Amino acid sequence: MGLLALGTPLAWKDAKKLADQVRTLGIQQLLEIWNAYRGNERDILLWGDEIEYLVLAFDEENKNACLSLRQAEILKALASDEKLQAAGGGVPAINDIEEKSEPFPTFHPEFGRFMLESTPGAPFSLSWKDLLSVEPNMKLRRIIAKNHMAENETPITMPSFPRLGTKGVFTSPYYPPTGSQSRSQFIPDECINPHIRFPTLAANIRARRGSKVAINMPVFYDENTPKPFNDPTIDYDRHLYPEDDDVRNGASKEGHIYMDAMGFGMGCCCLQITFQAKNIKEARTLYDQLCPVGPIMLALTANAPIFKGFLADVDVRWNVISGAVDDRTEEERGIKPLNNNRWKIPKSRYGSVSTYLSDDPRLRPEYNDLDLVIDEDIKKRLMDNGMDEHLSTHFAHLFIRDPIVIFQETLDEPAEGKSDHFENIQSTNWQHMRFKPPPPGGNIGWRVEFRPMEIQMTDFENAAFSIFIVLLTRVILSYDLNLYIPISKVDENMATAHKRDAVLSDKFWFRKDLFPPAPISNRTSPTGSRATTRPATPVAVEDEYQLMTINEIMNGQTDGDFVGLIPLINSYLDTVNVDVVTRCELAGYLSLVSKRASGELQTGATWIREFVRSHPEYKKDSVVNESINYDLMKAVEKLGRDGYLEGLGEKLLGPRSSS
Ligand code: ADP
Ligand code: MG
Ligand code: MG
Ligand code: MG
Repeated sequence: MGLLALGTPLAWKDAKKLADQVRTLGIQQLLEIWNAYRGNERDILLWGDEIEYLVLAFDEENKNACLSLRQAEILKALASDEKLQAAGGGVPAINDIEEKSEPFPTFHPEFGRFMLESTPGAPFSLSWKDLLSVEPNMKLRRIIAKNHMAENETPITMPSFPRLGTKGVFTSPYYPPTGSQSRSQFIPDECINPHIRFPTLAANIRARRGSKVAINMPVFYDENTPKPFNDPTIDYDRHLYPEDDDVRNGASKEGHIYMDAMGFGMGCCCLQITFQAKNIKEARTLYDQLCPVGPIMLALTANAPIFKGFLADVDVRWNVISGAVDDRTEEERGIKPLNNNRWKIPKSRYGSVSTYLSDDPRLRPEYNDLDLVIDEDIKKRLMDNGMDEHLSTHFAHLFIRDPIVIFQETLDEPAEGKSDHFENIQSTNWQHMRFKPPPPGGNIGWRVEFRPMEIQMTDFENAAFSIFIVLLTRVILSYDLNLYIPISKVDENMATAHKRDAVLSDKFWFRKDLFPPAPISNRTSPTGSRATTRPATPVAVEDEYQLMTINEIMNGQTDGDFVGLIPLINSYLDTVNVDVVTRCELAGYLSLVSKRASGELQTGATWIREFVRSHPEYKKDSVVNESINYDLMKAVEKLGRDGYLEGLGEKLLGPRSSS
């Protein structure tokens, strides 16, 4: 998230007049960074995760699980301990966790006032020791967070709170949904982090769009779900704000759960991984190569089957967030002819990547096959200043967006030596990969962020998926893998990833042959795959990829040539010097990923769906009521706290005693 600058944020009607000025300054700042850091070499590999939590408050008297709105108080308590530690106190000895010498983890605010984010106190290196410290570090963060909460509060890690936006009481304390920033029928503005940036973000997205955001996720039709399903929680008679007309004008869709506020999306929790590459070239390679892996990992980490108190027919959060910050006007969405706006824009500013950006000769022009909207003037300015075509195109695409929140004060200060205007646009382009240039003035290098994964309920799972991605980057770079497929196919995969149980029931486009053509005839592949010995004759793009199950992509084909990403990681591990204990621990993490892909273990989404459907109070009508939610939240709390749940954990995590 960008800096939480303080000052006076402009309402949309004023901000929009300054949008060009911010873009111009932003590009100036980008060029400064580009010129200062493009020649960086040999930055060390560092990486780190971001874990987002929902903070629950249990109301034991009413057997209700609510969202706690005490983010500010909790962060304050955490910050004062951090000061203690900086003064030499060490991490407070908590429960049975011993004092650690590692730096105090960092806790950040998030959009939802019921959310927290944590990152390791310092980024991890690639050492085996560091890789094996990921899960303990995540566990430590969870315990530290918990210890700065009230007795009845707890941090949990699941993407979406099942009863956010329901008619009952779902926050502690309760507020009616009448706020003027979101104008939502369902979520009170008090759910938004009160730092002025966030309510302004919500209000300006709504104002720019010209209506409330409208998110429609398909409902899961169970035996007794009314058909047709018309979301029964919508109030068609409210006349509090002009936007109440939205539902009378058809904002909600039959057969769908309707949501009308930024909080539904930005109130979701993700698992994100940021890598520092050794130089800009390697960062660009990683960005492109991880891009096609994004939708696969979204489906594999699926953990969000409930929205607004209803079982959904999707398993993941992505499109909810995408819709929640979709600030495009009707003209930009193609509903009205262009008149006041410059472009018709196919996607929300939260969406899958639309263009590869590497200068890799293997990037065939056919792979960038979307009708990409770019600001030609910005592209020209970047290219005139020495930036190459692909990278210029990438930024000229990000910069078609307006800055949503502008603090007047920032425009009165010199732009040199800073990145605030650049970050204003950059960090509100929420794509599934993010290319992060170095912050000016520091010694941080070119970084790439992998953003599609859903947060998992236990730190074992979060560590497993993080470690999988880290090892995959090593394999990609060591074997010079080529995962390119046309980017339109990545888009298709992103849609497929939403389907209920896509991980087992659907197929995804993936490149058939990941190995570079062998320049020397006797070159052998690490896996002995015959694919590497083929001659370097060009293949038609359409013949380069095929539909595969996630099991095939991850574990390899039994009746085909595709070797599988996990076998590739294993052969990589065979070639590097790794001790037996480490190898064994890594195998445990990889096994979770592998078994999720094969179906031997359930995704969180399937597990949650089964939990609800087998609850004695469930009426097979898709409704997740307070009591079901209470029991589910208790189970999720235990899973997160203990890393296991007797009787129920097995399907999710395998036969694993509490760790
Ligand atoms: P954002 O919210 O902008 O994506 P955060 O600061 O929340 O970024 O998280 C970034 C992650 O990157 C953290 O896990 C952090 O440990 C890690 N990180 C910090 N510095 C570096 C670096 N130089 N290289 C790689 N990762 C880093
Ligand atoms: Mg962050
Ligand atoms: Mg975050
Ligand atoms: Mg991030």
